[in-house]
Amino acid sequence: MGEVWAKRGNRISLVEHKGNYFIVPRLLVTANGGTCLRPWVLDRLLSMSQLKKDSDDALSVTYHPGFACNLTCSYCYQVDSSGLRPQNKRDKAITTEQMARFLAGYARDMGKSEFSVTYLGGEPLLYIKDILDFHRCLTKFMPVNGSFLVTNGVLVNEENIKYLKIIDCYTIQITIDGAEDVHNMYRKTKSGWGSYRKIIDSILLLLQEGFYVSIRVNVTSVSINSIESLLDDLYINIGHPNNMSIYFALIDNTNMYHDSIKESNEYIDKYVNAYRVAVKKGFKISRPGHSGYCSTCRTPRSELGYQPEGVVLTSSGKLYSCWDSAGQQSMEVGNVIDGYNPAAYEKSWVQCGYLDCNKLSQREAINSVILMLKDEFNMIL
Ligand code: SF4
Repeated sequence: MGEVWAKRGNRISLVEHKGNYFIVPRLLVTANGGTCLRPWVLDRLLSMSQLKKDSDDALSVTYHPGFACNLTCSYCYQVDSSGLRPQNKRDKAITTEQMARFLAGYARDMGKSEFSVTYLGGEPLLYIKDILDFHRCLTKFMPVNGSFLVTNGVLVNEENIKYLKIIDCYTIQITIDGAEDVHNMYRKTKSGWGSYRKIIDSILLLLQEGFYVSIRVNVTSVSINSIESLLDDLYINIGHPNNMSIYFALIDNTNMYHDSIKESNEYIDKYVNAYRVAVKKGFKISRPGHSGYCSTCRTPRSELGYQPEGVVLTSSGKLYSCWDSAGQQSMEVGNVIDGYNPAAYEKSWVQCGYLDCNKLSQREAINSVILMLKDEFNMIL
């Protein structure tokens, strides 16, 4: 995979180098994506953007309380080829306090003074009491300055909202898979019901209660054709309040799901257009996921001795490199008792995003969105 990606727009051009974006005069990029920028200029720009990133005071922690789920999405990346979900048995010797103690020590070693925590599952709301316990324990060691929940939205109710408020978790990501009929084809409850209407009700409830809702629209070669009608329905039912944003996420191939059409140029054009339509309809949008250099897992697995910048932890006390491998058998890269195990990095270090050379179309799609937004709407995400 080339180090530098570049594309010429109508008014400006965009250059991406190691996950960092630089807007340059249009003619510095050729029609076929070559750039006239000298390597030392790119390196200088890159080092300046790295300096900005390193100033974050919070250690990013992703906590998986368990992997059970109340839905049966057809592409679920956590299900193995036999249809089984990750097992996450807690070693009785490992307590929540030991997890918190490890995280606080690790944060201090990294020069951090607070935590930022993301709760993920399976479906994390199935484990809300465990989350409460984890949060309380963390705050005994170091302040938590930001909690985020990634949920399918079906279990959002008054009681769970009460718990989320206790842990100050006011940013919630909820996934939708296209217009109602398409979404209900992918995202069914265990008894086979489509979850779309319940999710819309959950979003409304969260917004009324003062939460910030980030809607992640999963995009496949099927759902991409229903984006416009999804946005129409969202506008009718929800509008576009200030405390809601939308982004479109490209679904990776998984054990249970394969989509070859998503490699095509036509698909990429439709993906870019989804953003264009959302902006024109007045929705607040957020940056596409998987930019390729995730702050948690971005370091190449071959760099032994490296300290990860963010921690992915399951309630069993095991450490993983990335959300993508959390809970998977033999993919842990350490535990909260012994710390990280560099000997496991080579085999088990997984990175999300398009760094993987099988995902070149993701890089093209995401970067083309960034270019289009700046070029057509003067927006930078
Ligand atoms: S909601 Fe998430 S964890 Fe649950 S089945 Fe769907 S993709 Fe998998």
